[in-house]
This record gives sequence, structure tokens and C-alpha cells, in this order.
Amino acid sequence: MDVAYSYFGDDDGNPPNSPEKFTFIELQEHETESPMSSNETKTGKVLHSGSVKKVTVTMGMDGTLEIDKESGKPVRKGMYCSHAQMLFVFITACIIITGVGLLAFYVPDRCQDIGATEAPVAGESTGGEPRELEVHQQAGYDYGGVDPKWATRAADWAGRLSTDVLPKRYSVILQPFLTPDDATDSHLQRHFTFDGDVSIKVECNRPTQTITLHTKNLTLHRNPIVKSRSAGAAAEDLFQSYKFVGEFDFLVITLREELQVAQDYEISIAYSGELNENLYGFYRSSYTAANGEKRWIATTQMQPTDARRALPCFDEPAFKSVFDVEIIHRANTSALSNGIESVDKEPIGDNGRWVVTKFKRVREMSTYLLAFVVSDFKYEQATTTNGVLFRVWSRPEAVENTKYALQAGVDILNYFEEYFDFDYPLEKQDMMAIPDFAAGAMENWGLILYRETALLFDPLLNSASNQQRVAVVVSHELAHQWFGNLVTPEWWDDLWLNEGFASYVQYLGVDNIEPSWQMKLQFLVEELQPVFTEDALGTSHPVRVPVGAPSEINEIFDSISYEKGASIIRMLDNILTEDVFKEGLNYYLTERAYGNANSDDLWTVLTYADEDKGKNDVKKIMDTWTLQMGYPYVSFTRDSKTLTAVQKHFLNNPNSTVEDSNFGNQGYLWYIYLLYTHKSDQNYDNPMTEWMNKEPKVEISLGDDYMESDWYLVNVNQYGYYRVNYDTQNWERLSKQLEEDHELIPIQNRAALIDDAFNLARAGVIEQTTALNLTKYLTKEREYLPWEATLVVISYIRDMFSRYSGYGPLEKYMLKQIEPLYTELGWKDNITDPTNTHLTQYNRINALATACQYGMEDCVRQASDLYGQYMEDTSVNPITPNLKSVVYCQGIRYGGQDEWEFGWERFSNTSDSSERSKWLSALACSTEPWILSRFLEYSLDIEKITKGDAINVIRYVAFNYVGRALAWDFVRANWDTLFNEYSLDQHFPSIFKALTKHCNTQYDITEISHFYSKRNLSLLKKTVDMSLDRTRTNIRWMENNAEAVRIWFLNAYMEGKRDTSAVTSYSAPQADETESSIVSSSSSA
Ligand SMILES: [Zn+2]
Repeated sequence: MDVAYSYFGDDDGNPPNSPEKFTFIELQEHETESPMSSNETKTGKVLHSGSVKKVTVTMGMDGTLEIDKESGKPVRKGMYCSHAQMLFVFITACIIITGVGLLAFYVPDRCQDIGATEAPVAGESTGGEPRELEVHQQAGYDYGGVDPKWATRAADWAGRLSTDVLPKRYSVILQPFLTPDDATDSHLQRHFTFDGDVSIKVECNRPTQTITLHTKNLTLHRNPIVKSRSAGAAAEDLFQSYKFVGEFDFLVITLREELQVAQDYEISIAYSGELNENLYGFYRSSYTAANGEKRWIATTQMQPTDARRALPCFDEPAFKSVFDVEIIHRANTSALSNGIESVDKEPIGDNGRWVVTKFKRVREMSTYLLAFVVSDFKYEQATTTNGVLFRVWSRPEAVENTKYALQAGVDILNYFEEYFDFDYPLEKQDMMAIPDFAAGAMENWGLILYRETALLFDPLLNSASNQQRVAVVVSHELAHQWFGNLVTPEWWDDLWLNEGFASYVQYLGVDNIEPSWQMKLQFLVEELQPVFTEDALGTSHPVRVPVGAPSEINEIFDSISYEKGASIIRMLDNILTEDVFKEGLNYYLTERAYGNANSDDLWTVLTYADEDKGKNDVKKIMDTWTLQMGYPYVSFTRDSKTLTAVQKHFLNNPNSTVEDSNFGNQGYLWYIYLLYTHKSDQNYDNPMTEWMNKEPKVEISLGDDYMESDWYLVNVNQYGYYRVNYDTQNWERLSKQLEEDHELIPIQNRAALIDDAFNLARAGVIEQTTALNLTKYLTKEREYLPWEATLVVISYIRDMFSRYSGYGPLEKYMLKQIEPLYTELGWKDNITDPTNTHLTQYNRINALATACQYGMEDCVRQASDLYGQYMEDTSVNPITPNLKSVVYCQGIRYGGQDEWEFGWERFSNTSDSSERSKWLSALACSTEPWILSRFLEYSLDIEKITKGDAINVIRYVAFNYVGRALAWDFVRANWDTLFNEYSLDQHFPSIFKALTKHCNTQYDITEISHFYSKRNLSLLKKTVDMSLDRTRTNIRWMENNAEAVRIWFLNAYMEGKRDTSAVTSYSAPQADETESSIVSSSSSA
């Protein structure tokens, strides 16, 4: 799924450049009861304690099954595997026999409490590209009043399925009722429901009299039927009774007699369910056609635990099976599923209204990858090099805008076949833009579903970052077709492997089709640097965590799984080298195809691939990065030609409590591969290397050619997932080098220096002014990456100074620094000009947004002029797509009511999702409190703003310094409505962070505490605690740094302005001070 990846990291108001990263969805209300037919019981108890535990199935080398009937724990003798590993064991055995040879693997036992990550928050509405909120966590699971996040977190959670019987084949028939007159002859109200009929062939692994599978919110039409398949048509029904166990979403079928080992049985269940509007399971979505008519579609989102809402099934990733699917639908619609259509639209019934579409069988796959769609959508199609049919679907009006995704999709699929050295396993690949979609996209095998902004691209209307967003998400989901779908994690504790991997190779896929975008460099500011901030909290968690209940599983779809996962896999790729990494991956995919695996299995094959080369023990290295939370910073001190390196766990707030001290027992030490160089060496492609082998301290040599006056640089190209701290002298030398000739240090290292220094300063490791010194050279910087890194770190100081007298000096300094870039790039954004590269376009948006944000007169005038031109004549939009986010925002920020109304009218009348998103964000840029208040009120009017956009409105207004207090009041005043109708419980973390991230006074602490004490909301405690923790860190930063930083800005601004002595006065100038007041402040020293 594309959710968190690169979307949740920019917690500090990452400026403009990024694609829209957040959109909202409406999530479900709490369900405490499932609508079941009247004769069932519901109970919260484990019914059959012998079988709900995870039971280990062992398989001898001869392929016969033995089952551990008692303990449910792995017995470590010989080669034992869970059932999910059987296929691999078998193939492994073959491989061993054929001389390739593989090591046995084991599954580590882990059962610990963990902390949780801070919720992701999007960028500010400063005029940059808006970031939409994407949601993956789902409410509605009932855990008997216990906070599920902490109570049940365990790998051997009692709600795991038994392995008594394993599914071998599903035959599914589904019929959604999308229009009011569907099934009018029925006595049931069928509108927005669906009928289902499923037959599951299962194989019995051990004698049992019960079969347990998942269902949720499905109504059974009659008793399930269970028959032996060996007895043929004459077989008698073994069914005796059934009941639901709501706590675990279990349907437990009790049989008249025991099932026999190695026999096949068939379970048949007829049922119906609601086509809900909560964006999970089998759900409904709608759009408005060009003629104004509202059209409905039926679609799905199963990951992680919602396939059970569409059909009774064994809804765990290791229960792979083949699927035969048929969908009955209206003749004027088309149906899609994972497999290609085998029989297209065969009439069914005699009224001519219904047809059936049958799909070819898809090989063994997990239930969470199922997909069914019924719609009136249109498509564009192409064929890959290997003859795979590739179609991209959208609502009919937008089908032109699928062209880029189609081209990118075909090219990237071709590339991944080569990269993985493994042919795409299905006959077709469909991709579809769904009007209402919770995540960014979902990788359902052969039928990838996207939100519109992640798939549709209109070159005349949408920006460069919109385009990159499409390419990146398409690449991510296609990577999953192999890594995730073909080979699937055994359990959700290895979600990170799935998502981290896709989030890494998505960059390789896009880099292949769009080399000028420099995706490998962008990785640093899109993935690695953002997640560093999240992962430096005491409340972070390891990438690999034991999870059980659906609520816990949902919780780990976060930036740690995606962005940290991607960052440590990139690091590993660098350690092993590309050839070894790819070879290992190919082993992994070949051996595990159509089966499951875990992290250790990947480490095993990578170690094997590396055996004759690097001789790295991959598991030993990677366990330190996956089993303990956080990451180190390595401090260097130099003595002649020798460096002493000391590693330490990095925390934004060194005083914060680390919540998982027992986790992984790695002692907060890591295996760190140090890549370094120095001024006389400057070898960035083949730098010097040294290992820190999980030891606190190590000495390394700078080599003979190191000169006493040279600077040195560590973590070349920021391949390592750690921060670097230097001795003061070296920091100074690096600053000096940047000022004298910054190009001597490559682009990505310039960005890394800035990101490291500011974050080390924020944590009190180095002086804030040491970090600020690195920004002095920026008047000469013309590259996107260092600027992007700078704007992110400066946004923290901007937040801190938003209510402090240092704001004026900060503003003046930033204007001085950005001016040369602003002047050079200017307002002309001709995308056909070859010198106007993709990253130049990104850089321009940054320059303009920053200049306007800090009030540069020329910038504001240009933006306002363009906005005014558009208001005068809407027939032609004079604002090029890239400049829209800046101009819309500034036009409204510096305009009045008319400008806002114009924006509102544009927002309301466009059907392009990216365009709507830009307007929604810009409308929050107003500085008129009454306009912002009204905008907030609009957000609760369903006629004006969809529920999907309402939460974004609140967030965008909260990002505006003028709107922050209004948004805060609004949330408190409308608490019940937001909570009950807008799933505020799900969005509270992101909203609360937007509201409080600037807090830095004792009064703020009192306010937040007071707010919390008024509302006894245990589920929100974690979020509030994080805000309090962050606020205390901010208070400490202000006490230690604010005044020195203010003075630093004054001095740095004055430098070059006039030949004057440094400002040393601590008298406090006002936030709105003018240049003359700075001068007078200076002369008073
Ligand atoms: Zn994914």
C-alpha cells in the first residue's frame, strides 16, 4: 500500500516542493456489534484454546506433515517450518540437492511492548504544494474497553487462525447492488448491499471438529455447508452449528464429526453485506459525471484485515490460496478483478439487465491482495515487452489523464522484470483511479487501485510534483507485484520489509524512466531526512514489531515502516553492492515465489549472495537496525591523522524517556559502515570505509595523504542511517569550504551537512550557531537538494520564532539568502525549455514560495498580479501549473474577500483532484480571521466541502500562523461533531500536531494539560503526551538558543550590508523591526 511512504515525514512544515501528500478519508464509526442473523451468539471468549493459538506445523524433508499438537511453539530440531514456510522448505530442499545450498532459517520469538510513532503531519500552507492526508488506520475494532494499542500487542495474539485446515482454492461469486431499482423483486432493501457466494476447498492438517475463519459484518443467508470432497456428490453435510466471535472476527463452524488429516473438504457459504461508504472491504464510491449525474461504483480495499468484510475467508497473509472469481453486474458496467477476464459479460437471468464476468484463476495469493471493482470507467491500454496487457482506468471524463501513468507503468514494469530478473507473473496489469480512496494506492495483485491524485496527470493543468507523485506511486505499487504479492511477509510484523523495500525500489523504477529527475538524490529529502525526525523520538518503535490485533497492524503503516524501512534497505544495498543485492533478491523471489517469507529469510539469501564477496553477516548487521528503535549519531574527534568515533542513540530530546529499553537487547549500539573522505582525498565514489562493529568507540585512520589543515567528511552521500557530529574545528572548516567553494562538496553531502547540523543543534549536541554558519554560503547555492534541506530545518526555527522577537531578523536573513536564487530562477517557468529541468522547477517553487512567505515585495506583487489577471479572465489561466500553489496562496493571502471568493468558486467548480487540492490549501492562506473562521465553518457543511476534505481544511488553517488559534477554538467548539461524524479520533494526531508544534512556553503546557484534563480520552493520551514532550523540548531550545540565534540572524543579515561591528546587545528588538531599527540596535552595542 502506498500510505506513509514519503508522505508522513515532513512534520515541520516542509515547504513547497513535494507532491500532494495528504488527502483525507472518512473512516468508520465504532462498531460494537456485527449485524448477524438472529440465531447467532456473540462472545468475546476464545472458543477453542487449543486451536486459536498459532500452531507450528512441521514438515520433514520428505515432505510429510507432522503437527505439533500441544505447545504451539516452535520445536527446534531438524528443519521445522510453519505451514507458511513449507513451500520454501520444499524448494530449498531442491536447491540444496542441486548444489546451490541454503542455510536453514529460524523465526525469532519476540513478545514485547513497544512505543508508537508520532502521527504524521503534512506541510504548511505557505504557498507550497499541498500535502493531503492519507489514512490507513481504521477505527471500529472492539476490544472490550481495553486500549488495544498496548493490551494485546504480541506476536502470538490469541486472535490468530489455527492451521488445522488450510485453504487451497476459493470460488467466489459477488453481486453488488449499486442502483435503487436493483433487485426490486426482493423483499430486502438491497440498494448498496451485495450478495456473495463462496466455496472454499480446504485441506485438513490435523483432526479437528471445528473450522475457524474470518468474517466481519456479513449476514449469512443460511447455515454453512461443509462436505468431504472425496465422497463426491453424495457426500453428506458435516455442518452442525456455527457462531461468531466478534472479538476476533471469527466465524467458528462446528462439525458433526472430525475432519481427517490429508483429506479435502469444501465449505460453502451464501451471504450478503453492505457496500459501505467507509472505504474498506467491499465499498461504494461515487463521482459526478459531466452531465451532473451522480454515478456509483463498487470497489475494494482489503489490506490489512478487511477482506473478511467482503467474503468469509482465512484472512491472514500466510493463508495463500488460488482464487476463481465471478462478478455479476449490470450490463452497462464492467467488472474487474485480479485475474484477466476469461468470459466477458455473459448475460445472466432473462431481463437483460445483468451479466456475469468470469476471471481467470490467479495463482496462490493472500486475501489482503484481492480486489473487485464494478464501474462505468473507461481505459487506455498498451502491452509490455513481454506481452502483458496493461490498462489504466478512470472515470470517463478523466481518461485522457491516464496516459502518463500508462506509459510510466509499462516502462517501469519492463524495468522491474529486468531488475528482479523474474517475469511479471500475471497476464495483465490493471490500474484504476478511484474517486474515494483512503490510502495513496493499493497494490492488489494485477489490479492496483489509486486515489486520483496518485494516478491521473494532466500536463496542461498539473505540476511537476503532481507528475512525480504519479510516477513514484506507480513505481511503488508495481514493485509490490513481486515484493509483497509474489513473495509475501508471513505476518504483519514484517510489514516494514514489504513497504520499506517498495519505498526504496520505487526510486530505482522512476530513476530508470526519468533519469533527469535525480530520484536517487531526492531520496534523501523525501525519505531519509524526514523520518530521521520521527525516529529520534523516545516514543518511536523498531521497524520490526510484534503485532496481533487489527488495530495494532493498522498502527504500523507509518513512516517508520515505510521511510526508515526504505532507508535501511538502501544502506544495505550500498554495503553489499548492487550486484550482490540484486542476486540475493533474485534468490529470494525465485525460492519463495507464491509463498511467504520473513526478514530473516531475506538476510539469509543476501548473506549467501555475499558469501564470496563482502562476507557480511547480514542478519547480525540488520538486527541492530530492525529490532531496536531509533538510530545513532556518531561523534568524531581528530588527533593528527586518526579519528575517534563514538556512537550514541540520537534523541531530539536527550531527556526523553525511551520506551522500549528491552527491545531486541541490542543495547542501542549498531553495526555502522562508515564511509568517509577528506579534502586531500575527495573520493566520493570510492570513499574510505571502516566498520563500527556494535561497539561504542572505534579509531579510524584518515590515511597518509590527510593534511593537517584538511576538513574531513563522514557518511558520504548519506548512505548510512545515522547522523554525523564533528569536532568544532572540523565544523568550522566545512563551513569555510562551503563559503569558499561549495561545489567541492557534492550536492547530497551539502544537504546532509545542513540536516545533521540543525538536528544535532536542536537536540543540544552542538551550538545552534554552528549549524547556522553552514547556511551563510546559500547565497551561492543553486541546487535544489541543499535548499530543500535548509528550508525544512529553518521551518523549525520559524515555528519557534512565530511568537518571538527573533522573527524579524529571521525574515530579513532568509530574504537575503533566497534573493539570488529568486532573481536567477524568476517567474518564467517554461517547461519546454530544456534548461528548466525538473529539479529547477522544484527549486523555483521553493524560491518563490520562500520569498513570498517572508514578504519579498517583488514576489508578492508578481503573485498578486498573476492572480488578478486570472480573476479578470478565467478563460485562460495565466498561472503555469508549477506556480499555481504559490500564486493561489499568495493571491489569497494578500487579497481580500473578492480574492477568496474567486478561489472558492474555482475550488467548487473543478473536477481535477490535484487542482482542487491546491485550491483547498490556498484558501487557508487568508490572513483575515473572519474569512478563515467562515472557511472552518464551511468544512462542516457537507454541501460545500466533502467529509474527505474537512479534516484537511482544519489542518491547513492550523498551519497558518493567523489561523492557528481559530482552528484550535474550532476543534474544541465542534469536538462532538468532529468526533462522531468526522472520525476525529483517527485524525486527532495530525491535527493536534499542527495545532501545537510551535508551542514553546509554560503557558502552552498549561493549556494543553487543561485541554486534556477536560476530556477523559485515554486513546488520545499518547498524542497529548507527545505534544507535551515536544513542547518541553521547545521550551528548552528557546531557553538555550533563542537569544543567541536572534543575534546571529541580526549579525548575519548585517554582514555585507554595511561594514559594522557585530551586534552583541541582548536588548530585544520587535518582531516587526525595520532595517533602521536593526542598525540602531547594532549601534547601541
Ligand atoms: Zn506499499
